Amino acid sequence: MAYTITLIPGDGIGPEVTAAAVRVLTATGLDFVWETVLAGASAIGEEGSALPPRVLESVRRNKVALKGPTETPVGTGHRSVNVDLRKQLDLYANLRPVKTLPGIKSRFDGVDLVVVRENTEDLYSGLEHVVVPGVVESIKIITEKASTRIARYAFDYARTHGRQKVMAVHKANIMKLSDGLFLDCCRAVAKGYPEITYDEMIVDNTCMQLVLDPTRFDVLLLENLYGDIVSDLCAGFIGGLGLAPGANIGEEIAIFEAVHGSAPDIAGKNLANPMALILSSAMMLDHLGETAAARRVREAVYAVLAEGKKLTRDLGGTAGTTEIAEAIASRVEKR
Ligand code: NAD
Repeated sequence: MAYTITLIPGDGIGPEVTAAAVRVLTATGLDFVWETVLAGASAIGEEGSALPPRVLESVRRNKVALKGPTETPVGTGHRSVNVDLRKQLDLYANLRPVKTLPGIKSRFDGVDLVVVRENTEDLYSGLEHVVVPGVVESIKIITEKASTRIARYAFDYARTHGRQKVMAVHKANIMKLSDGLFLDCCRAVAKGYPEITYDEMIVDNTCMQLVLDPTRFDVLLLENLYGDIVSDLCAGFIGGLGLAPGANIGEEIAIFEAVHGSAPDIAGKNLANPMALILSSAMMLDHLGETAAARRVREAVYAVLAEGKKLTRDLGGTAGTTEIAEAIASRVEKR
């Protein structure tokens, strides 16, 4: 059976890391048909819009997409394609597993946590306006529906993946209504999962506790903004953004993409680490039910890391993006 997947190469290092992921996925021997569509800054140049309608049409039709990072101008310019995709396709759960990898020296061993981030509302609703010159209002939206849904996702994930603890992260001491509602929803959902320990922690303290000892944490359940920030912080525990995979998941549709952005500083130089997107591809294989192929891809990545001979610059090596893709793909082919 062939899988038709929407492929969004994206901007900056996006085309390089998506090509690497496609090379590795092809090495699994599974049959993929790639429907390539442009989104982001590259699409503005070619199609006049950062998110042309055919991108949404393609993802809606195929239900699964693999996406490179897309660039969002700071302060001005087009709205974030990521935020738009997640909202328009209702990809409400952003799932980011953070696990210590073989051969990677970092400050902590044995990190194995999962960031579950609400993906559709909060301060990412894009509702900003100038009240009077010099005063701007940015509106934080928190709803019972979205908070309950993401809490249920986190607890279901914990249950099906043998996780013990879910920690809701908040700032309800200050944002008593919005984060208070989020916590009310988390508490109500937690009651349905008595076998899972439920806890709460204020976001600033969470950051401090994480950098002291991330191995204490299991599933972190966060609103959109806290989840965004804490995801990058957690990527630092396992060797950086070049190794941190992710997925945006809805009821029927899922888009797999790494945590990192378009890395304009290293774009087009064959320097990007493709492992984060390759590990995101393994998550995609799991989602497709191809768990054996997913395991082969992960094991191939772990083998290349453990060997330590071929590494990109972010991990202290000199290998290029394409070389890493070949090293992983050839191991996938042998397994
Ligand atoms: P970034 O993640 O692009 O880069 C941060 C740092 O990490 C840079 O030094 C970069 O070189 C390095 N890095 C990132 N990915 C790497 C990889 N695979 N291999 C090696 N090094 C890597 O974050 P930024 O600079 O804040 O953002 C750049 C652009 O990306 C912005 O326009 C931002 O909006 C966008 N962005 C997109 C997404 C997405 O599409 N999902 C996510 C985050 C940021």
